[in-house]
Amino acid sequence: MKKRVFSGARPTARQHIGNLLGAIDNYVKLQQEYDCVYCIVDIHALTTLQDTHKIQGYINDLALDWLAAGLDPQKSIIFVQSHVPEVTELQTYLGMMTPLSWLLRVPTFKEKAKAQPDNINYGLVGYPVLMTADIVLYKAEVIPVGEDQLPHIELAREIVRRFNTQFGETFPEPIGKLTNFPSIPSLNGKSKMSKSEEGSTIDIAHTAEETSARIMTAVTDPERKFRKDPGHPEICNIYTLHKYFTPAEVESIGIECRKAGIGCVDCKKLLAKNMNQALAPIRAKRLEFASKPGYVKEILDDGAARARVIARATMQEVRQKIGL
Ligand code: SF4
Repeated sequence: MKKRVFSGARPTARQHIGNLLGAIDNYVKLQQEYDCVYCIVDIHALTTLQDTHKIQGYINDLALDWLAAGLDPQKSIIFVQSHVPEVTELQTYLGMMTPLSWLLRVPTFKEKAKAQPDNINYGLVGYPVLMTADIVLYKAEVIPVGEDQLPHIELAREIVRRFNTQFGETFPEPIGKLTNFPSIPSLNGKSKMSKSEEGSTIDIAHTAEETSARIMTAVTDPERKFRKDPGHPEICNIYTLHKYFTPAEVESIGIECRKAGIGCVDCKKLLAKNMNQALAPIRAKRLEFASKPGYVKEILDDGAARARVIARATMQEVRQKIGL
């Protein structure tokens, strides 16, 4: 029997090329080897999303991005977290056995509390408990993660151990499958591409024209002020993006940049052309799926129905073991 993978993404914006190269491409590959459960974690989104009337649009966008990039509803369960309400019941039970001190030491809680000091809500603190419930409700064993998410997996394992010790072997201890997520730079040259940096992403859903326009205004090597100035490709985000979209020419681009043999305008035009070429099939599929009325809803409804079968069986076992 195949092992089960669980992973989720928060519907708080459209997916960008950082998400595509960092997570979604990996999700697609995992479908060959594992029984995959991919969840649009809308309840998690509420910990930071204030504008909740936008959430249905984001859910639709995220599903379209995933499906267009190759997540296959025939192979994987693709669904929305809140459509399987058993997860919040399990979160409650797991919360009863999770010491507050474990949650307060989670690095992402500290970061988020710093970022939104006026909204340090209970959900933010309990985020890792809900995440554990997401995983163990489906008895998933393998969780694709980047290095920064390992503390969450460790905490999930601790909660599982506690539950299993108290009530008997129920959940497998999830294992973080470390993935070498490439760090895709933001177009503003400040950090990695992030949906929170307005205008600094290239989204899967962007048109070729929007993509080119964003690339043409992106920050490059700040020390290269004039065409004749030699550049420093190692600090240029356009150069980093060429590594993914122009792999065959990246070495020569670096050499030419260093001796001012190529200007930034031409360098960016080449990147825009190659990026648009690489994204064209995904974008065409996305447009096709978006034009079919009810297509996304049908897939998410079917995914939720399949997820619910697993969830109900798990909860029956959990309640019986707890004695409820
Ligand atoms: Fe960056 Fe290309 Fe300009 Fe060099 S030529 S600084 S790699 S955009």
